[in-house]
Amino acid sequence: MTDTPRRPVAIVTGAARGIGAATALRLAQDGLRVAVLDLEEAAAKSTADAIGESAIAVGADVSDAAEVEAAVARVTEELGAPTVLVNNAGITRDNLLFKMAESDWDAVLGVHLKGAFLMTRAVQKHMVDAGWGRIVNLSSTSALGNRGQANYATAKAGVQGFTKTLAIELGRFGITANCVAPGFIVSDMTKATAARIGVPWDQYVHDRAAAIPVRRAGQVEDIANAVSFFVDDRAGFVSGQVIYVAGGPRN
Ligand code: NAD
Repeated sequence: MTDTPRRPVAIVTGAARGIGAATALRLAQDGLRVAVLDLEEAAAKSTADAIGESAIAVGADVSDAAEVEAAVARVTEELGAPTVLVNNAGITRDNLLFKMAESDWDAVLGVHLKGAFLMTRAVQKHMVDAGWGRIVNLSSTSALGNRGQANYATAKAGVQGFTKTLAIELGRFGITANCVAPGFIVSDMTKATAARIGVPWDQYVHDRAAAIPVRRAGQVEDIANAVSFFVDDRAGFVSGQVIYVAGGPRN
């Protein structure tokens, strides 16, 4: 068994806000150095500055191979070789199948699936060199099927297959790969969904929470806590798993 690198370096994608920002903060509190990677470098910088000197901001589009390679090289130079990767960047382009544009399909699969692939391919060599690594990918309860989300549900189900394959291929190098699959979490993403369907935010939260067994909406920290568990050394024998963090078994 290889020891954890002394202050591991983590990359959290889509970390300017929401679940990614909470996860970056949580990992920094756990003692890691953290690269806050996001499309929007200025927003990522505010998040990194709020975390403190153990964090840097990196602007990159996870669906662009050249930007991904450059971002990982920059993190390696400025913080050290990354051995923890949280593939969190995400978008939604919801619509019923008969109205869904090809560009909406491509955009969603491009960020969630291709983005996770490109990031993981670029970072895994550092994990292999270290003989230790942690990959945590954000799936969703939508992976089980969700009306209006053919593109997103497909991407989030695909992320689970990707993760299980990483667990099988990379386990021999001391690397684990797992998924956190959130249910309804309060974030800009869900606020945009409420606005799109024309339901006032407070009512939307009330209605969603009423259908959740623990009777509350999820908070970004609920997800950050689950990511923190998978990254911890004590989770070293847990790999290829999906944990639904949804206040109930599936919603
Ligand atoms: P959010 O919209 O609040 O934040 C997503 C972040 O990803 C943004 O900062 C955005 O700039 C960034 N991003 C988008 N495309 C990118 C790209 N190509 N490259 C780099 N960064 C990019 O979303 P959130 O609610 O915090 O969701 C985070 C993750 O959790 C997503 O993968 C989402 O699908 C998943 N998720 C969220 C919920 C929920 O209820 N909020 C539920 C299940 C799963």
